Amino acid sequence: MPGQQEYTREEVATHNTESSCWIIIDNVVYDVTKFLDLHPGGAGVIMDMAGKDATDDFYNLHRQEHLLKYSKRLQIGTIAGQKPEIIVTGPGDISKVPYAEANYWQGHRSTYYNDSHKAFRVVLRKFYDEEIIPEALVSEELGKVPSPELFRKMGDFGLLAAAVGPGPHLQGQNLPGGLKPEEMDFFHEQIMHEESARIGCPGFSDGLGAGLMIGLPPIFNFGSYEMQQKIIPEVLSGRKRICLAITEPFAGSDVARIKTTAKLSPDGKHYIVNGTKKWITNGVFCDYFSTAVRTPKGITMLLIERSEGLETKPIKTSYSPAAGTSYITFENVKVPVENILGKEGQGFQVIMYNFNHERWAICCSVIRASRLIVEECFKWANQRKIFGKRLIDQPVIRAKLAHMIANVEAIQNWLENITYQMTQMSYKEQSRALAGPIALLKLQCTRVSHMVSDEACQIFGGRAITKTGMGRLIEQFQRTNKFGAILGGSEEIMADLGVRQAMKDFPNARL
Ligand SMILES: Cc1cc2nc3c(=O)[nH]c(=O)nc-3n(C[C@H](O)[C@H](O)[C@H](O)COP(=O)(O)OP(=O)(O)OC[C@H]3O[C@@H](n4cnc5c(N)ncnc54)[C@H](O)[C@@H]3O)c2cc1C
Repeated sequence: MPGQQEYTREEVATHNTESSCWIIIDNVVYDVTKFLDLHPGGAGVIMDMAGKDATDDFYNLHRQEHLLKYSKRLQIGTIAGQKPEIIVTGPGDISKVPYAEANYWQGHRSTYYNDSHKAFRVVLRKFYDEEIIPEALVSEELGKVPSPELFRKMGDFGLLAAAVGPGPHLQGQNLPGGLKPEEMDFFHEQIMHEESARIGCPGFSDGLGAGLMIGLPPIFNFGSYEMQQKIIPEVLSGRKRICLAITEPFAGSDVARIKTTAKLSPDGKHYIVNGTKKWITNGVFCDYFSTAVRTPKGITMLLIERSEGLETKPIKTSYSPAAGTSYITFENVKVPVENILGKEGQGFQVIMYNFNHERWAICCSVIRASRLIVEECFKWANQRKIFGKRLIDQPVIRAKLAHMIANVEAIQNWLENITYQMTQMSYKEQSRALAGPIALLKLQCTRVSHMVSDEACQIFGGRAITKTGMGRLIEQFQRTNKFGAILGGSEEIMADLGVRQAMKDFPNARL
């Protein structure tokens, strides 16, 4: 087997011409002769390293994924008596880079997680690495929405059910790794959102589950029995897709100002819906729309099926069109009266019912996405050499990393505390006690992600503003980290809500 042959460094050194060009990377010998003309950076850069050890130079300029892409084809052997030393992470692996995982996953103790959470993360990470990332990397770049096959695969694996969290709606559903529906808790769900954010393709990740995560709860909390029996299995199996359509060009933060109308038909059997919705995630490919409308009795929620008069158009945003962000128009759309969610005029309660959960899920994603950037920075600072030193040897760069790590660890610990409260409190108690803390956590998460993005850009330099190559995740993060600061309630609204909630419990105390 050519890949297992052993060579001395002297032997490799003799292959230093364009007709026979070998290089060494991490004690592995590569014959790159035929690759010279294919190298995107030109043949000259490789020829400078011909016959030599190119480990430092390679990692100064390339991500490991590039090596893995070509290594099988180009590897001819190893250096005699030596083995590769650089870690290659495989599907499902937990990172060994400090702070690249929350501390429990790197061996610390925790009162929150048990063996079932551990097993859940292992199967989920493997599934993401093997089944989702290959499509995600391509589609995020091309702006292609997730394929119907991938939705079905996720449905069969139980990932879609895991995205909507614990509760009676899971009865009869299969969950990842054979987890029983009654065993699923908010820590499992937290893990699910974290793993989704870890793939570093925010548009595609939202394409896979953001609409479902906010669009299905109104059905299982407020839909009729018949509606639930039909819609929940269709959607959780990945055969149909659903989203939440509240926002309009006229009304974002101020939901009460929505203008889309629903009027009863003369025979009283249908609502006739007219109006527009803006920025609806997944809308371009959805079959069902949990929609806020205005009726004579006030704001009302309806389940609207894609049908005549309903049109969706993509909206270009800062992240990938893979999210399926849409502008929706309703022109005389006929909706059976049975499709009401909750009671007429009580749509506001339906909308509010899932808000804390949505905001908490955004926190899970924002923290994990920020942590991924910490890992990228730590690795880069360790391998990038300039002015004769690694970046990590510069105190200024260590201070930046310290700032990033300390902030991400702080919000992770606050998140875990809030998740724990969610596992212990009834829905009613959560609404009363956690609305404020979740709003403030979300505010803090997006402030931290903003800072992480800023520091990461400085650590990566030009690569942070280049879409491909070493800094591709940093570029993506600085382009997309604001999504968390606006979606599900903007920072200003979160700050205000957090303090107003606290004021409700303010005692008659004085200085
Ligand atoms: C990519 C994307 C996906 C989305 N997905 C969905 C979806 O699936 N479904 C859905 O229904 N909606 C969705 N939205 C809408 C999103 O929830 C709104 O953008 C958000 O609620 C803010 O509304 P707005 O953008 O209209 O801002 P506005 O309400 O116009 O506010 C503008 C700015 O003013 C600030 N502001 C507003 N009120 C106050 C106040 N009282 N005090 C201080 N500052 C204030 C806000 O913080 C905000 O930064 C999405 C939006 C985007 C961009």
